[in-house]
Amino acid sequence: MNTPRPNILIAGAGPVGLVAANIFADAGISVAVFESDAELPTTLRASTFQPSTLDLLDRFNISEKLIALGLKAPRLQYRDRQGWMVELNFGSIREDTSHPYRVQCEQYKLTKLLADRLQQFPHAQIHFSSQVTEVSQTSDSVSISLKGPTGSSQITGDWLIGADGGRSLIRDALGIKLGGFTWPERFLVASTPFDFPSVIPNLCEVSYFADPEEWFFLLYVSGLWRVMLPIGSHENDTEALSDASIQKRLQRIYAKSGDYEIKHRTVYNVHQRVAERYRDGRAFLAGDAAHLNNPLGGMGMNGGIHDAFLLADLLVKVQKGEIPPSILDHYESQRRPIALEYVNTITIANKNNLETKDPVEQKIWRKKMMEIAADPSLAREYLLKVSMIASLRKQEQAIYAS
Ligand SMILES: Cc1cc2nc3c(=O)[nH]c(=O)nc-3n(C[C@H](O)[C@H](O)[C@H](O)COP(=O)(O)OP(=O)(O)OC[C@H]3O[C@@H](n4cnc5c(N)ncnc54)[C@H](O)[C@@H]3O)c2cc1C
Repeated sequence: MNTPRPNILIAGAGPVGLVAANIFADAGISVAVFESDAELPTTLRASTFQPSTLDLLDRFNISEKLIALGLKAPRLQYRDRQGWMVELNFGSIREDTSHPYRVQCEQYKLTKLLADRLQQFPHAQIHFSSQVTEVSQTSDSVSISLKGPTGSSQITGDWLIGADGGRSLIRDALGIKLGGFTWPERFLVASTPFDFPSVIPNLCEVSYFADPEEWFFLLYVSGLWRVMLPIGSHENDTEALSDASIQKRLQRIYAKSGDYEIKHRTVYNVHQRVAERYRDGRAFLAGDAAHLNNPLGGMGMNGGIHDAFLLADLLVKVQKGEIPPSILDHYESQRRPIALEYVNTITIANKNNLETKDPVEQKIWRKKMMEIAADPSLAREYLLKVSMIASLRKQEQAIYAS
């Protein structure tokens, strides 16, 4: 590889790596992103952009483009199969955000926008088919080994960000362990164009259905309803993804004549895991490389993007000599507790509330949600938390206080 030495090396061209790369590019700092795939992945993954993330992405003038490519979801519902329902409206936080709604849009549309935006900067490059295989560092540089179609090479920079996803090689190479656990059940996601709002009264774009036997959620993205539900460890992937299994589950949501049209289907393992450290010398972990959580609440990708903003902003200031490198420890001390205490706690509680078989727990949760929905100040407090504005504010206060 014939690349002049960049200041910043990034492993992974997912949303987290590309957000960070855009921040360095905007600051005039040279950055090289290394992506093992031959092109940007377009698999169906996260689709929720929280208000806090949209506010941050405004810096790149990208939020409006995401809205144009997706849709605004100003409401959030918790329901059950028997007709109980509570609705929260993001209008309660209109004074707190420029985006009082979630945006539903596939994450690959964000990565495309971010990669296209990088093209205007001669000091920013994305290298595809470039798998990072090793990491080494000295007190003033960090190097990575790369494997590509034309062989192996090595490149050195000042700092490295491992944004290489849940199976992060960078994390392993740095000897950082991932604490936490994996849920015994996996999640099945199926997309269908079936018009659920015509048969489920008042259904909004983001609706979570509690059920002690089989909870599910319905999410509207780009003309399709995504249905997510749990599958037990007794069922293998082939069975879970079969027409028979998906039709049976969708028919349980709404019994209609004839089969549902299925556009996409996938099964994945679900984790609640956080890396024991986010930093080793000149190398940092961000996004899924640093933390994994269940998708109930749409916090995984959003939390990763929040990591990227804090880490890249700090590194820009260090590179420009505006702050000493010791301040970089703020990254782990701010972001790791958020992953552990905030994102983990909320997403585990979301799962428990939807699936609990205990009638007392069910009653307590329903009562609490009804009280929140009925009281504007409780609704605001709740929405600030679930839209991840509260965690960003906590982080900002801590940094400015120090
Ligand atoms: C199957 C699946 C479904 C999901 N569905 C949802 C969902 O419905 N809702 C939700 O909120 N979240 C979901 N998520 C989680 C969400 O997609 C992630 O939180 C988000 O993608 C994290 O972004 P990232 O940039 O940290 O990592 P990624 O998006 O995983 O990006 C990492 C990138 O690094 C590249 N890479 C990996 N190893 C190397 C290497 N050694 N060298 C170079 N490049 C490398 C990968 O090819 C990839 O492009 C899902 C995740 C998966 C895997």
